[in-house]
Amino acid sequence: MTTVLFDMDGIVLEGPRTDPQVYADAADAALSDLEVDPSPTRRRDFRRHDADRIRAHCEALGVDADRFWKLKERYASQGTHDRLRAGEREIYDDVATIRDLADRTTVGLVTNNRHETAEFVADYVGIDFDVVRGRDPTFEGYDRRKPEPDYIEDALADLGVAEGVYVGDSRKDVTAGRAAGLETVYVRRDHNRDRERPPNATVELEGLAALPAALESL
Ligand SMILES: [Mg+2]
Repeated sequence: MTTVLFDMDGIVLEGPRTDPQVYADAADAALSDLEVDPSPTRRRDFRRHDADRIRAHCEALGVDADRFWKLKERYASQGTHDRLRAGEREIYDDVATIRDLADRTTVGLVTNNRHETAEFVADYVGIDFDVVRGRDPTFEGYDRRKPEPDYIEDALADLGVAEGVYVGDSRKDVTAGRAAGLETVYVRRDHNRDRERPPNATVELEGLAALPAALESL
């Protein structure tokens, strides 16, 4: 059977993305570590992801922007892992399908989320992924996120394969998967129920349970 790479948020973890409050808390913790107390306007920018604004504010405040970014990413990972352990964010029941597939074929986890969190989630859900790739805790790492194919290509290179399937819940997953030369599976969840199907998705499914049969037909 073919290599199957999975998106994380919205495929393994319930909901489409990290709660913005996790990043707000992470930015505050990083600023506290760096012993700076920015204006409310600047703090609001630090809590978001606009690299240009963050770089400008760091320069104005005499803070190493790379260090701030790395600290914020680390605290965001810790916050996310705490939420998972506390059951505030759940795992989709149908990840059992990924666990079964892992016994039969090569599987990977490739996400725009932080690499540290991807590693945590792989362990937390107990799936023996052959490759796990999330974003690096740098400005450059952030720019390599999907719809860029970079992290999917990294995973394929790690595995030494050029063909396979990418399974995701958003348009950018289909764009990135296609750009990396893969077939794509678009999975419907509550949060994307009413979205238009990405026109170039190979297959559309109502959940992961139907994935093994769909893979047979590709
Ligand atoms: Mg997703």
